[in-house]
Amino acid sequence: MENIRVFTKESGVTTLGPGRRYCLWVQGCRQHCPGCVTPQSRDEQGGSLIPVSALAAEIALSGMDGLTISGGEPFLQAAALAELIDRIRRRRDMGVIVYTGLVYEQLLEQPEARSLLDRTDLLIDGPYLQALDDGRSLRGSSNQRTICLTERYRQDLDLYGREGRTRQIIPHGAYDNIVGIPNTQKPKGERQE
Ligand code: SF4
Repeated sequence: MENIRVFTKESGVTTLGPGRRYCLWVQGCRQHCPGCVTPQSRDEQGGSLIPVSALAAEIALSGMDGLTISGGEPFLQAAALAELIDRIRRRRDMGVIVYTGLVYEQLLEQPEARSLLDRTDLLIDGPYLQALDDGRSLRGSSNQRTICLTERYRQDLDLYGREGRTRQIIPHGAYDNIVGIPNTQKPKGERQE
C-alpha cells in the first residue's frame, strides 16, 4: 500500500487559503532556501509514513472546506498525493491548493508532476527568496505566483499578496502549533509555508 511521508498535518486552518482547511505538510525537500524556517522538513527519510488510504479518510471526514498541501516539497511525492486527492474526492468534493518551491514551467516538464498538477486547483510556486519577502499575505516572497489551474479559487486571488500576514495558534495540549506564513521579522523555528 502506498504511503505519504508527512512532516505534520493540521485541521481547522484559516491562514493558508480560503475557508477552514485541512493542511498537510509533506516531508522531504531538496532545496536550501536561505531563511527556510522548516529545515527539519527537508530530510527525505524523516517524518512519518502514513498510508494514503488512512490519510484520505481522515481528510475527507474532517469537514474542512478544502485541502492545502505544503512542505517540504509536495512534488517529490506527486503520484502518492494524486492518489490521495482521488481517494478524497471519491468521498466528497474538496478544493486543493499546493505550495511548491519549484517553478510551474519546470513542473510541466516532469511527467510525474503532471499527476498532481492535474488535480490542483491553485498552485503557489517558486522558492522562498528572503530578499523578496515583503511581508504580504499567503505567500513567502514576491517571486511566488498564484496560478489558477482551475476556476475554483479565481475569485479568491485577491487574498494573496495583501497587506500583512495572519497567523493562527492551534493548541494541542502540550504544545501550540503556529500556522500561517511567518512575518518578515520571524522568530526562529517557525514554519515558512
Ligand atoms: S522554504 Fe520550502 S522549498 Fe525552500 S528549502 Fe524550505 S521547505 Fe524547501
